[in-house]
Amino acid sequence: MTLLAALQEATRRLAAGGVARPRLEAEVLLSRACNLTRPGLLARLEEGLAPAAAQFFWPAVDRRAAGYPLQYLTGHQEFMSLDFRVTPAVLIPRQDTEVVVEAVLERLHPDGEYTIADCGTGSGAIALSLAHYLPRARVYATDISPAALAVARQNARELGLAARVTFYQGDFLAPLQGLKFHALVANPPYIPAADLAGLPADVRWEPRLALDGGPDGLDAYRVLLPGGARLLRPGGLLALEIGCAQGQAVMSLAAATGAYRDRQILPDYAGRPRCFLAHRREE
Ligand code: GLN
Repeated sequence: MTLLAALQEATRRLAAGGVARPRLEAEVLLSRACNLTRPGLLARLEEGLAPAAAQFFWPAVDRRAAGYPLQYLTGHQEFMSLDFRVTPAVLIPRQDTEVVVEAVLERLHPDGEYTIADCGTGSGAIALSLAHYLPRARVYATDISPAALAVARQNARELGLAARVTFYQGDFLAPLQGLKFHALVANPPYIPAADLAGLPADVRWEPRLALDGGPDGLDAYRVLLPGGARLLRPGGLLALEIGCAQGQAVMSLAAATGAYRDRQILPDYAGRPRCFLAHRREE
């Protein structure tokens, strides 16, 4: 079978499975199977599909057609223009979260010698992109999942950031006690437990631990807002991703701590509220 025929058959199977861009995803999976770039693949469509490539390709096509995320099949997702490895042990980094990282970068000086925390780091998307774009910063990242931390550590090595990023296993802030931060950032699980069943198909394959925010979705904020106040330096920046219906609730929880000034909610590119920002009060 030629690579072209394989692409055509895969495109048909992916389309039948409801994949929105079946030809594109067929090309992505086939180039991964053949260890080629997409342009490299497209230049060789008359060549035959090697048995080893076929062995990866057809099961991958069928899993994708059944709704399994493309990124878990390729093992990669771009975030903040950096290449992150992903496995089913971590949430696939999202564009929504780039809004949070960009809000933080806008408020810090590129040469600042900051100490920054990322709580619930998953693939390391937030921690490592901040370390990359703030080359003098020191970053501490936590995750409760050892399997997620293994992915984050590998990403740190592959992005050349391992020397400035320290990973700790544990719940959100627990491993960070005794440290003081200029900024604390998190994309915590925030989906109300009862909504998990009704989520889009791709989310079903992602770690429940990364998504489940407890009965009202706010469990993590009840830990991060008061706990963050104890770990932030005076004036320090707190930046949290939130669900688009959680702005008011997170604002109230933040106000109730009495510890934050300049509390605000930023919209994402679609205008939905997606990021809570505040500064630790000085007193
Ligand atoms: N911090 C990671 C990300 O933003 C993981 C977040 C999570 O698992 N809730 O992609």
